[in-house]
Amino acid sequence: MTSKSQSISETGSETGQPLNLLAQTPEALRQLVHDLKWPPYRAQQILRWLYRHRVRDIDQMTDLARTDRATLSRLARIQRTEEYRSLASTDGTRKLLGRLADGLVVESVLIPNGSRLTLCLSTQVGCTLDCGFCLTGAMGLKRNLKSHEIVDQVLMALDHLSPDACLTNLVFMGMGEPLANLWAVAEAIERLSTPSWGLGFSPRRITISTAGLAPRLKDVAALGVNLAVSLNATTNALRDQLMPAINRLYPLEILLEACRNYPLSPRQRVTFEYVLLAGVNDTDEDARRLVKLLAGIRSKVNLIPFNEFPGSLYRKPDDWAVLRFQSALKCAGLTAFIRKSKGADVLGACGQLGNQPAVRPSLVLTPTGGDC
Ligand code: SAH
Repeated sequence: MTSKSQSISETGSETGQPLNLLAQTPEALRQLVHDLKWPPYRAQQILRWLYRHRVRDIDQMTDLARTDRATLSRLARIQRTEEYRSLASTDGTRKLLGRLADGLVVESVLIPNGSRLTLCLSTQVGCTLDCGFCLTGAMGLKRNLKSHEIVDQVLMALDHLSPDACLTNLVFMGMGEPLANLWAVAEAIERLSTPSWGLGFSPRRITISTAGLAPRLKDVAALGVNLAVSLNATTNALRDQLMPAINRLYPLEILLEACRNYPLSPRQRVTFEYVLLAGVNDTDEDARRLVKLLAGIRSKVNLIPFNEFPGSLYRKPDDWAVLRFQSALKCAGLTAFIRKSKGADVLGACGQLGNQPAVRPSLVLTPTGGDC
C-alpha cells in the first residue's frame, strides 16, 4: 500500500500551490477546516459538494458563507481528471478516456446490460502484471492511480448520465491490478460508498477483481465488497505461462487456499473468471480440472471468451466450444455464466484497455492446439 505522504504533498502546503480538494482524504479536509477555525460540520458540507453534487467550483458551495468560499478559493481548487475522449460502441458500451494531471491517460468503460449499468474502473495506468493475453499487461506499469483519480472515473461517468439514470454496479476490472494498489483502492471505496457525504454505493454492488495476490484477499473481505479472481488456467504449468508474474509468486494451491478461507456472507460467492483461449485452456480436461479445483468453495464461474486485440496471438474459441465448456461445468454442479463481450469495437472489452498494440512475444504462450 502507498503511504499518506501522497496526500500530504498534494495538499500543496509544501509547494505553495493551491491544494486540490478532491485529492484530500476526509481526515485531511477535517484538519483543514479545523486549521481555519471553522465549525467541524463544515468538512461534511464540503465533502457533500465534492462528491454528491460534483461541483467544479468552490463558489458553487452555496451553504458556505461568501467570505468562507473566498478564503477556501485562495487555498484550494477542485481539479478533476479531464475527459478528452469518449468512444461509443454500437452495442451501447462507452469507453471514457481521461487525461490525468501528468498527461497519462486512464480508461474506464460504461456497460449497459438490461436494467444494469456497470462502470469498469482502472486502478493503474498500465499494469504491474504481465498476463500474456491482456493488452494492458503489454504496456507495463506506468504508475498507480491515486484514490481521487479512481473516484474521478466515477464522477466522469456520472456526468454522462441523464439525471434519472444511475450506475448500478462498479467493477474494478479495468486497467491494472487493484490489489497492487490497495491503499488507493480502499480510500476510493470509502468515498464511493459513504452514504452521508460520499457517492453512497453499497459495497455489495462493488466488485474487485484480482489476478491472485493471495495474501491480500483478506483486505478485500475487510472492505465488504465482492471478490472476483481471474483463474484462467487449471495447472501451474499453464498458469505460469499465461500469468507468469502472479503465478510464480502465488501458485494455484496457495491462491485457492486463500479463496477457501475467504469469509463469505450467507448470500455471497467468490466469482472465478476464466478467459477461454482456443486450444489452450478450453478442453474437456480443463473443465474437469476446474471442477476439482473449485470443490468446497462457494463460487460461480464467469467464462470470458478471449477478446482479440491488434497483435494478439490467441484466438477466441468458437461458440460451440464455449457452450461445451460451460455445460461441462454445469453438469458437475457449478454455476457458470458466459460473459458476453461488450464494447469490443472500441477496444473497450475485458483485456483490451491500453493504447499499446504490441504484445511482448516472450510473454505469450504459443497455443498448442485448436485453429491458432
Ligand atoms: N488485474 C485484474 C483486473 C484486470 S483484468 C485481474 O486480473 O482480475 C480483468 C479481467 O479481464 C480478468 O479476468 C482478465 O483475466 C480478463 N482479461 C484480460 N485480458 C483479456 C482478454 N484479452 N480477453 C478476455 N478477458 C481478458
